[in-house]
Parts: sequence; structure tokens; C-alpha cells
Amino acid sequence: MKDAAQPDVIVIGAGVVGLSAAIAVQARGLSVTVLDREGPAAGASAGNAGAFAFTDILPLASPGILKKAPRWLLDPLGPLTVPPAYAAQIAPWMFRFWRACSPKRVAHSTAAQTAMMDLSKAELEPFLAATGTLPMLRKEGNLQVYESEAELKASLPGWKARAEHGIEFRHLDASAMREIQPGLAPRFTNGTFTPGWYSIADPKLYTLALADHFRAQGGAIERAEIAALRPVEGGVELTAADGKTRRARHVVLAAGAFSHRIARTLGERIPLETERGYNTTLPSNAFDLRTQVTFGGHGFVVTRLSTGIRVGGAVELGGLKLPPNFRRAEAMLKKAQTFLPGLKSEGGVQWMGFRPSLPDSLPAIGRARATPHVIYAFGHGHLGLTQSAGTARLVADLLTGQRPAIDIQSFSPQRF
Ligand SMILES: Cc1cc2nc3c(=O)[nH]c(=O)nc-3n(C[C@H](O)[C@H](O)[C@H](O)COP(=O)(O)OP(=O)(O)OC[C@H]3O[C@@H](n4cnc5c(N)ncnc54)[C@H](O)[C@@H]3O)c2cc1C
Repeated sequence: MKDAAQPDVIVIGAGVVGLSAAIAVQARGLSVTVLDREGPAAGASAGNAGAFAFTDILPLASPGILKKAPRWLLDPLGPLTVPPAYAAQIAPWMFRFWRACSPKRVAHSTAAQTAMMDLSKAELEPFLAATGTLPMLRKEGNLQVYESEAELKASLPGWKARAEHGIEFRHLDASAMREIQPGLAPRFTNGTFTPGWYSIADPKLYTLALADHFRAQGGAIERAEIAALRPVEGGVELTAADGKTRRARHVVLAAGAFSHRIARTLGERIPLETERGYNTTLPSNAFDLRTQVTFGGHGFVVTRLSTGIRVGGAVELGGLKLPPNFRRAEAMLKKAQTFLPGLKSEGGVQWMGFRPSLPDSLPAIGRARATPHVIYAFGHGHLGLTQSAGTARLVADLLTGQRPAIDIQSFSPQRF
């Protein structure tokens, strides 16, 4: 007999990935409880840049980044940093990252990422419609800007790869670029516009709206910090940090950058690290932004949200414990002022978030080695919002015994 207090499924983590999965599973008729140590939208899902970057099919781990990295690493406040205090710990992950940059592995990751993006894009609008969040969707595209013909030329192999995967874009000269986004500094000579890049009005409000929808459909969200999982007869036992235990038939582990700690209690070592990112959100009147603008050579974007203008990005391979270094957010804001001369930089709110990243830039979606009753759904790196609806679909397929909508072998948590 079914225990009324024991849900069919417990999802650990009320970020955009956990809540999307919870909603998709709930829609298949299972009872679902979501546990989060802080409550909904406490992690990376709250402060990200809000992009559904469906055209971002090229893994970060690629020969291109290996070329840029040495120059970037020279600047302690630049687009990529490894704090000396964390250099030894991150070294094994970086070695795996470097190995994932071989042309063969990049081709494999690109194909897997393309399938995931296609699924996520196809799932997104029906998901938004079902959760009442469709009005939050914006289709304003993305403008990547370059400071010379040479920089555009260097990016062409990446665009060729995207073209091969059917992605639409237009290379623009300076005047066509300024028609799309007026107010760019003269140093930007060329651009590439991708119309198929969508965004959400505000990622935190979106995640909170998902939480509301989940509750309205009968789901429960409770506060609990989960410390360990243990397979038991017919399900899984969860132990919280305060020692309390509870059981469910299935568990979905979606605790973002902290997921590997919980997976380890099942005896599984997953090389999840965090790429810490920073931003500053300025008041809405800070700049007349018409599209999301990516300053690729400097590793940050400027995004128009319903709640303000967000300037941020960068990667700091600094682990989960070091304090934030908000000078990084200040450095990006300073550059943004130079790149968008009319930008009003007063009144900003700074933020740091933990991107949950695996070395090959693909997420971990699949069953735990120790038990088929635990499904992993984490490690989406720069693309957790983008791939949330697709991940939700795959988790729901796995939990209801259906063949996953796409081949998930490349996302196997055991691939490392
Ligand atoms: C600066 C920046 C910009 C970004 N821009 C974009 C973008 O434009 N588009 C995009 O797609 N992605 C973007 N990302 C990445 C995206 O934010 C993440 O991939 C995504 O939010 C991950 O979602 P998640 O639900 O897996 O994790 P999170 O949102 O971090 O949620 C994990 C949840 O788990 C909870 N938790 C952790 N440990 C425990 C525990 N032991 N017990 C219970 N609960 C626990 C936390 O409290 C948290 O609420 C960006 C990230 C950053 C940092």
C-alpha cells in the first residue's frame, strides 16, 4: 500500500532545473515534493543572464578557449581566473577540460549539445504555456560584437559549425549593427545577430513563478538540507543535515553546483566544479538596450530584464567556499561603461552565482550507478535555464519508464 506521507518523487533543489523537473513529473500524475535548504530560487537560477541560448551549441571546452585562456588568465579581473588558493583543487578538472578540447570530442559534444538544445527549444513554449509563464518570454535575439574584422574572422569557424547545425545568424557591418543596437562605442566594427536566442523577463521571478505553479498543482516545497542518500527496499532514504530521515520511491538530484557532494554519499565521484560568475543589475533606465549584447572578447553580456539592466558573466574557477571577489563585477561594469558610453552605472546591485559545470560542458542526466531510483539532473554550466525544459522532459521520461525523448548516453553521469 502507498504511504500517504511518502511522495512518489522527492526533488532535491528548487532551482530552475529542479522545479522544471518537478512540474514535468507532477504533470505525469506522480506526487512530488521539492526540498531545498533555502527555498526556491536561492542559487544560480536567481541571478543569471536570463538567456535561452539555444544557438550556443559549441562546448566551452574547445580549441578556441585554449587559444584565449592564456591571455585571459594574465588579467586577475579578466574573463577567466583561477584564484591561487584554489589552483591545486581545480587542476584535475582542468586536465579533464583540456582533454575534452580535442577535435573529436568537441564534435561529439557539439552533436549531443545540439540534440539537447533542439529538445529544450521544442519543449520550452509548451512548458511556459502550461505553467502560465509565457508572457515572460522575450524573443529579442543576441548581438555578438567584435572590435575588428580580424576578431570576426577568428570567430567564423564557430559560426560555420553552427550553420552546419541549422542555426540562423547574420554577420553585420558597423551601421547594420548599430541599427539593431544603437549606442555602441565606435571600437566595435562588426557584429553577428542570432534571432533564435530568446530570454526570460527575469530569471528569479520566473523560477518563483514555477514554484507557485508547482504548489498550485498540489506540489509541496519544504526546507531541508539533504546530506546523504541511501538505497533502501523499493526506494531511497534521504538524511538531512539535522539527522532527520525521510523516504521516497524516487529521488531527483538537482542541487546545482552542490549535487556532487550528495552523489558522493552513494559512492559516486562526479567531477562537478563551479564556474563562479558575477554581475551587477542596474536600474531599468540605465541604458536603452534593444537586444542582449555579448562582448565575447571580454567574456560578459548585457541583458535587459523586466527588473533592470544586468551586466555580467566571467568565469572564476574558485570552488564553493572562497568569498566572492566583487571587484570582478566592478571590472565588467567599468568595461560596459566604455563599450556603451551612455550607460548609467549608478544604483547597481552586485551578485555572484555558482554555475554547476562538468569538464566537457555537457550536463549529467541519468540514473545513479548505485540505484535506478535516483536520477541525476545537474551540471548544466552556462546553460541551466536554457536547458531546463528539455531536462525536465528527460527526467519525466526516465521516471515514468518511457524512452527518453533524445539519446542521453552523452549525458551519462558515469561517463568520466
Ligand atoms: C553569471 C551567470 C550568468 C548565467 N547566465 C545564464 C543564461 O543566460 N542562461 C542560462 O541558461 N544559464 C545561465 N547561467 C547558468 C544557470 O544559472 C545555471 O546553469 C542554472 O541556474 C542551474 O540551475 P540549477 O537548478 O541546477 O541550480 P541552482 O539554481 O543553483 O539551484 C540549486 C538549488 O539546490 C539547493 N541546494 C544545494 N544543496 C542542497 C542540499 N544539500 N539540500 C537541499 N538543497 C540544496 C540550493 O539552495 C539551490 O536552490 C548563468 C550563471 C551565472 C553564474
